[in-house]
Amino acid sequence: MKKLIIVTVIIMLASCATVKQSAVPAEGSTGHHGRDAKTMAGLDSSSLAAAEDQDHLILATLWFQKSAEMRALYYQCFRSAEIALAENLAWAGRTKPGAVVLDIDETLLDNSPFQGWQVLEKKEFNNDDWLRWVELARARPLPGAVEFTRYADSLGVEVFYVSNRTVQEMGATIENMAALGFVNADSTHMLLKETASSKVERRALIEKDYEILLLVGDNLADHSGIYDKRGSDNGFAAVDADRRLFGTRYIVLPNPMYGAWLSELLKKTEGQTEKDKLRKFLDTF
Ligand SMILES: [Mg+2]
Repeated sequence: MKKLIIVTVIIMLASCATVKQSAVPAEGSTGHHGRDAKTMAGLDSSSLAAAEDQDHLILATLWFQKSAEMRALYYQCFRSAEIALAENLAWAGRTKPGAVVLDIDETLLDNSPFQGWQVLEKKEFNNDDWLRWVELARARPLPGAVEFTRYADSLGVEVFYVSNRTVQEMGATIENMAALGFVNADSTHMLLKETASSKVERRALIEKDYEILLLVGDNLADHSGIYDKRGSDNGFAAVDADRRLFGTRYIVLPNPMYGAWLSELLKKTEGQTEKDKLRKFLDTF
């Protein structure tokens, strides 16, 4: 009899736990994400519910944090941005004042500590953890980023930030960027995400009063709506067609850790874990 009671209690507890688990939405499956183009699309809820190691992020995160090549590339990109901006500013026939449009995450602010935390805690990306990181307002600036915004400002070019951080994250983002010395770190120059991930409409708002001379970002959708969707060729043909715009109108920064390049890949295949899916895409001999 005693045994029966114990077994019944165990069954009841187990069923409670099941109900509780299914009542909680899978992490990352709802709401907006903080980082540009960091979507969880392509991950089914079963893989989200399980604690999955994030070891596939280690190499990319370490490259971002520890390689001098990464620093050099950021300096190189922002130097190219300065040269391109000055050249574009000199164009004849401009009727509106010039503006530069910059993405924020992995363009100006370094969120790789969040990525490192995900690996050590075995936590997949989710909006709650991301928001906690954003609200610390502790992201460091990327190499050359603050200086570039000051250079643009010194030329009389209006600096705008178009980011898929959400409007809810505005206060902490302004606090973080103002403390680091970014120019125009205020709500009139920061166009964050309300509903649409595409940045096309926000760029159009800026273009009412300004001519955008240069766009800087780590994700191609930071530069043009053409890149909002990538076809079966991962967007390669579109990039080839735009080749003359890179380094002149578009400046692309390196982000091996996340982005539309990754989320679009993950949508294309089935697998238990992100790692399982990603292995399928490797070219080999
Ligand atoms: Mg970004």
